[in-house]
Amino acid sequence: MSAAAQGATAMVAETEQELTDGFHLVIDALKLNGVKTIYGVPGIPITDFGRMAQAEGIRVISFRHEQNAGNAAAIAGYLTKQPGICLTVSAPGFLNGLTALANATTNCFPMILISGSSEREIVDLQQGDYEEMDQLAIAKPLCKAAFRVLHAADIGIAVARAIRAAVSGRPGGVYLDLPAKLFGQVMNADAGAKSLVKVIDAAPAQIPAPSAISRAVDVLKNAKRPLIIFGKGAAYAQADDTIRAFVEKSGIPFLQMSMAKGLLPDTHALSAGAARSTVLKEADVVMLVGARLNWLLSHGKGKTWGAPGTQKFVQIDIEPKEMDSNVEIVAPVVGDIGSCMSALLEALGGKWQVPSPEWTGAINKKKEENIAKMAPRLMNNKSPMDFHGALGALRTVIKERPDAILINEGANTLDLARGVIDMYQPRKRLDVGTWGVMGIGMGFAVAAAIETGKPVLAIEGDSAFGFSGMEVETICRYDLPVCIVIFNNDGIYRGTDVNGASNDPATTVFVKGSRYDKMMEAFGGIGVNVTTPDELKRAVDKAMDSGKPTLINAVIDPAAGSESGRIGNLNPQSALKKK
Ligand code: ADP
Ligand code: MG
Repeated sequence: MSAAAQGATAMVAETEQELTDGFHLVIDALKLNGVKTIYGVPGIPITDFGRMAQAEGIRVISFRHEQNAGNAAAIAGYLTKQPGICLTVSAPGFLNGLTALANATTNCFPMILISGSSEREIVDLQQGDYEEMDQLAIAKPLCKAAFRVLHAADIGIAVARAIRAAVSGRPGGVYLDLPAKLFGQVMNADAGAKSLVKVIDAAPAQIPAPSAISRAVDVLKNAKRPLIIFGKGAAYAQADDTIRAFVEKSGIPFLQMSMAKGLLPDTHALSAGAARSTVLKEADVVMLVGARLNWLLSHGKGKTWGAPGTQKFVQIDIEPKEMDSNVEIVAPVVGDIGSCMSALLEALGGKWQVPSPEWTGAINKKKEENIAKMAPRLMNNKSPMDFHGALGALRTVIKERPDAILINEGANTLDLARGVIDMYQPRKRLDVGTWGVMGIGMGFAVAAAIETGKPVLAIEGDSAFGFSGMEVETICRYDLPVCIVIFNNDGIYRGTDVNGASNDPATTVFVKGSRYDKMMEAFGGIGVNVTTPDELKRAVDKAMDSGKPTLINAVIDPAAGSESGRIGNLNPQSALKKK
């Protein structure tokens, strides 16, 4: 071969070298780090990304609205301890997903929102691009970390940083901004593969200091009326056996916050759930485990609690800044809950003296009284149903199917279901969380079914359901084992409000006698209308046995609810309000 011919061959080899691009590098980086499912809504500039991810073996679940996809990703993160991935288009799609990202961050759920974005040069000069928005700047204050990638060679590092930021320390939401141009950027495939990072030990154990452990055990030892409160951080930690061993060895009664219910069975002998007000007032030492003293616990003070100065707090949390956030913490234990609880268990030692029967006996007496008071209300078979009658039936469903996942949102539907329905297994109750936000329902239901393979029962207020209701089509499309029960009382809080000023309906009422079950039928799912607790129980059993997407319209007395459920006191009162 002549020298000239040899030169030409070399040039061909050079141009024919294997190439990769931004699309594939993002997919490869996610796959390398164990991502199996992406939740999102397709559109410019990420439509092809979804297709390619699917072709590469990642499951891509397409929703009807980004907020629901984001909520799905967030709860996937909570259930698996791996960041849930949400994929959206630019500007409006990004903003829709951002609500879920902020909610995930508030709840300490690990999640990564990946949004396509418009061209930097045009966005930064504000020249009016298609869906122009400085997404990175907007995301930053609403999540744990936010990154933008401009070069394909940086994708591997960016994905690694996003994963670490989401799951290490206190988990939360991370935003990853991927401008449209990045997806098409080409680089040598070998160099591309080498640029990827498989994250090692993404959420390292955080071992508590021995001095913090002995301080906490001293406080517990000297307690006369100790109480443990488990929050969803404890459920998230997946240290179920250690937690149970600690409770049973210490003999300390416990309360479980809403999403922690079932960490230990609500029917456990040491559960003080049915004596909540009594124990919060009377405990002299309260140990918080993955639970914040926020509004959900009346900030640790006021009339829910004992007199100021009579109660001491121990707190176990991975976030040091959480300590003393609302009241003084006399024994802060900073570390991951698994490590902290096993260190505490060990430190109890052989000489541990369980709390006096005076304390546990008083709690049991109160529990029995409250349970006996509630029982007849749960057994009523009225039609139209009241909340208690309907919930009595669903309580039995969960008792008989303890591995089902319960999704719950609404006002009265939420507050009453939380109290009535006992949970038996960890991470089976998913609800409105720290913000008390409506709209998580269908996103959570989809992800719960996909991530766990278990049947899902979503108990929804009619108003709450409306925020994500269109996703019933998604549930039918992916043929998920989700049974939705709508507590239909014709409105928000109740369906009886009247507007005295004009012919418009009152602001809180909906169309009377709506048939939400027909929405499900529109997409090939099963719709059922029920008017008694017996009918309701039969319909749910049938849905859960069949695993078919089902929506049950449960007709509830429009007069049965109360304003804002249990938190009506948070409504400001106008001094000018007409009596
Ligand atoms: P709840 O609403 O159920 O009371 P919160 O969301 O208020 O629960 O509190 C959860 C707490 O758990 C947060 O302060 C968070 O930092 C903490 N947390 C989350 N995961 C872990 C973990 N693995 N180890 C220790 N603490 C954790
Ligand atoms: Mg309602």
